[in-house]
Amino acid sequence: MNISEHFTFQEFTFSEAALRLELDNTPAPAVIANLRLVAAVMEQVRTLLGERPIVVRSGYRSAEVNEAVGGVITSAHCRGLACDFVCPAFGTPAEVAVAVLTSSLEYDQLILEYGWVHVGLAQGGLLPRREALTKRSRWAAYESGIRA
Ligand SMILES: [Zn+2]
Repeated sequence: MNISEHFTFQEFTFSEAALRLELDNTPAPAVIANLRLVAAVMEQVRTLLGERPIVVRSGYRSAEVNEAVGGVITSAHCRGLACDFVCPAFGTPAEVAVAVLTSSLEYDQLILEYGWVHVGLAQGGLLPRREALTKRSRWAAYESGIRA
């Protein structure tokens, strides 16, 4: 089922960890509404990246799945407000993050992670912070800005 022109519900709810650990990763209706907002923003990202295919690494994560993958407890993924992705046809995650950073996209958080890019949206009604961070490894602290 498509939730936007190029993105499906399945790719935003797929979780390898959920399958492996037999955890439920079914989003509630309010979360599905948020996933539609994220998909709409990811359409803008796709356009920004020259209409190249985007590979979604993680969208929604239930609390159980989020804990299993070591996500922070306040993760926007648990509210269906974030997307981890790569776009190999455009460039490295650092190149992708710089492209988003220098665009006018209304993200709340942009994080260059260790191998992918995280885009998070603000909760309904809140102004997006346009906060950019870099996390170099699972154990590293967040650094301010996009640092390749
Ligand atoms: Zn993320």
